[in-house]
Amino acid sequence: MIKDTKNVILSQSSLSTLSIHADEHLSVTADVAPAISVSSTFKLPAQLGVNNYGSETHVYARESTPVRSRLETVLGAVHESGHAVTYASGLAASFALLLHLKPRRLVLAVGYHGTKAVVDLYRKKVAPIETVELMDCLREGDLVWLENPINPNGEIVDVRHYADRARAVGATIVVDATLAPPPLQQPFRQGANYIVHSSAKYLSGHSDVMGGIIVTRCCDAAKQLRIHRTVQGSFMGSLESWLLLRSLRTLDLRVRQQSRIATQLVAWLNCATRGRGYEGIPEGVIGRVRHASLQVLPKGYDLCDAFPNGFGAVFEVEFCVEAHAKVVPTLFQLTQNTTSFGGVHSSAEWRHAIDVCASPRTLRVSVGLESVEDLKRDWVRALNIAKFGEGYTQICIDATKCKL
Ligand SMILES: *Cc1c(COP(=O)(O)O)cnc(C)c1O
Repeated sequence: MIKDTKNVILSQSSLSTLSIHADEHLSVTADVAPAISVSSTFKLPAQLGVNNYGSETHVYARESTPVRSRLETVLGAVHESGHAVTYASGLAASFALLLHLKPRRLVLAVGYHGTKAVVDLYRKKVAPIETVELMDCLREGDLVWLENPINPNGEIVDVRHYADRARAVGATIVVDATLAPPPLQQPFRQGANYIVHSSAKYLSGHSDVMGGIIVTRCCDAAKQLRIHRTVQGSFMGSLESWLLLRSLRTLDLRVRQQSRIATQLVAWLNCATRGRGYEGIPEGVIGRVRHASLQVLPKGYDLCDAFPNGFGAVFEVEFCVEAHAKVVPTLFQLTQNTTSFGGVHSSAEWRHAIDVCASPRTLRVSVGLESVEDLKRDWVRALNIAKFGEGYTQICIDATKCKL
């Protein structure tokens, strides 16, 4: 009875409450914080049945562990009654989803080079699927794989538009929502059939855990994915599951705030585009800034429905000259020069070094939880050193002394 009342409360709860309480019923002790579940094998019950997901029965850690079940329960809940299946990485999740869906044709509209590499591997080693363009006519059995927002420029696509087209012919829509997890977007509402994430980014948010997830609203599909995962052995480890579960407790708070700070920083940097100077940003450095908040959106696109709580914390800066794009990430004091992103610390990368398709004049930036004023100072300093050399810091230090 008590449990039922609690279920009613949870069914009406907001994302922040679910991220803290959705897994509570899976706790078998009085502990408030979940255990890490280090056991690889579990004592068999007298009557061994099928290990139904959600039951308390665990047999072997390749199949399930208590902490992974708790994590998947929370991940499912924050995706509006989805069923979440966790993997060792985002690419492991993407590969598992391709194997599961076995598409006849594939429409791949992604920016992330790793997803393209997964598809190449699948085509070489599993099935030589045909790839078609987003604008082409869709057919039954097609798989449309979108990334929203797009890595690396943070711009958004109209998922509902493609989902409507896909539904009309019996095609399937996958949305890689790594750059904007809940509460920023809920792709099922836009018509997505599957959602994938690299949980190493904003879902975990502290740059200390690898992982990937697939979310579906179809219980049977989730069951199938779990059975295949047990065979493939591509599960998420217990420490990783525990760290990710811990991170999810603050997901709502972190992601909204990172998105808010990013949007402020983007607006400020945008004042210095087309070679103009602005509030300490030197002239002739920044050419253009790309982010969903600056994007001209398609007519009729319902932004408040698709992204009600912000667009995410990734944006792209295009410099006037390549040399600046290359050197600026090495000059920041707060913003870290890293290939991955999504942590509480801001980060930036000259993307061309990793992905030759990225323009050599661009920098991908992910905003953390530092104060926007501190980040602006970090940008002003880095951009001035890039343009004027180390002499700029000398001037800054002297100026500070004068003020004192
Ligand atoms: C990082 C990333 C991935 C890959 O995830 P891993 O966890 O690194 O395997 C997939 N899609 C997008 C959009 C990403 O940014």
